[in-house]
Amino acid sequence: MTNVPFQNTPIENIEPLVRGLNAAFANQTTKPVEFRLKQLRKLYWALEDNAKDIEEALKLDLGKAKFDAQTGEIGWVQNDILYITKNLAKWVKDESIPDMPLAMMPMGYRIKKEPLGTVLVIGAYNYPVQLALGPLLGAIAAGCTAVLKPSEQCPHVAMVLTKVCSVLDSTCFAVVQGGVPESTKLLDQTWDKIFYTGGAQVGKIIAKKAAETLTPTTLELGGKNPAIITKNADIKLAARRLLWAKHQNAGQICLSQNYHLVERSVLPQLIKEFGNVYKEFYPNGVAASPDFPRIATDRGWQRLKHLLDTTSGKIIYGGNMDEKTRFIELTVVEVDDVKDPLVADEHFGPIMVLLAVDSVDEAIRIANEVDPTPLTAYAFGAKAETDKILEHVRSGGATVNDTLFHAANPIPPFGGLKTSGQGTYRGKASYEAFTHRRVVATTPGWVESLIKMRYPPYTDAKLKQF
Ligand code: NAD
Repeated sequence: MTNVPFQNTPIENIEPLVRGLNAAFANQTTKPVEFRLKQLRKLYWALEDNAKDIEEALKLDLGKAKFDAQTGEIGWVQNDILYITKNLAKWVKDESIPDMPLAMMPMGYRIKKEPLGTVLVIGAYNYPVQLALGPLLGAIAAGCTAVLKPSEQCPHVAMVLTKVCSVLDSTCFAVVQGGVPESTKLLDQTWDKIFYTGGAQVGKIIAKKAAETLTPTTLELGGKNPAIITKNADIKLAARRLLWAKHQNAGQICLSQNYHLVERSVLPQLIKEFGNVYKEFYPNGVAASPDFPRIATDRGWQRLKHLLDTTSGKIIYGGNMDEKTRFIELTVVEVDDVKDPLVADEHFGPIMVLLAVDSVDEAIRIANEVDPTPLTAYAFGAKAETDKILEHVRSGGATVNDTLFHAANPIPPFGGLKTSGQGTYRGKASYEAFTHRRVVATTPGWVESLIKMRYPPYTDAKLKQF
């Protein structure tokens, strides 16, 4: 299966396809909760049945180890499905309104949960399964019809996703394959919501296009995430946890720490501990490790090579590269200029960038200068210090004395802040991202005697009642 060549969806097919999905939504095909649960369960088993093909495709596109394919992609989405299917019947129920004023009680207020309609989900390349199917689960759970557009930068995975999604009702859900021309054609259609994961540059294109028709969007974007390590941090533990985070997907994670601000007095110890962990994780070197991923595209590899070739910083560990296999070694670099592109841009690769600071206050100042609204922030230190960091450095989410954990849980909402994203998903938030909360009031006839004073003429006697 993984040998199926990547095939763009013919552009001329896109418009009729979306028309069909609109018709299916109008027919209320996706409305019954049983239908939604059935689709989600089918998807769960399709992931199970195609796990081997998915693992192979992830290996071909990203050099992803089987362990990561299971924990960060297949099992990840399956866990989300289990959580959603377990709770959906509860979420779809009408909600009453608490603390109703006495006078409003007879009107039978309730909040009805309505699917938004026909939606578009655009995925990014770095977690090509999770970031495509994750939002789609929310669309299915909410009762929408949907088009999924996976990233063309992982062509093998994209084709397996077509196969996986073929178990879904084809009148309601479709996968469109392609790059910019296909995405542009998709954006020309009428949607009830666009859910986009990817870089901020394309995020702006999506938001502009959506604004033309006032189409709501959820944007899951990137950012320049800081990790701040104070002199009171457990340095040995910090080194292990930080290096592990960078190992993940060879740093191609929106949640990866873009740079580390380290109190000067503990920088030598941190560097030494990185060396120890490095040997522990890769006893035969990074290149020989079957666990270490590769860069997804030649363009991405060239970009990282250029950054490493031109950095003003000093390479401490790593630095090896191989163009043929798109390998970039996990590399530790010490920089002393905050304007170095390794700090100032989202480098999105396996590069541990270290910058010494003289105090926690200086770290906070720099973090806010580099990116005032990153997707995540990591703080390592004593409680008072990490509290202070979280208080003064804003971010979409955060983990204290570790990395990634705030996003590893299928239940709480995940999302960015302004430039790193708008809106959230995962768990109930995935369902809510595609749901309209419609307030309905029903006024019974018998209440007329109580509310008839609203009708003109507005006499003084009526006014006195207030
Ligand atoms: P990208 O923006 O290049 O592509 C994302 C998607 O947009 C792809 O499906 C692509 O085909 C589509 N696309 C590209 N150009 C387009 C255009 N002109 N019009 C419409 N669609 C277009 O992003 P990427 O390189 O796949 O991913 C890396 C970026 O995504 C990083 O910035 C990373 O931080 C971010 N990211 C964010 C999250 C998150 O959850 N917040 C998760 C993963 C990645």
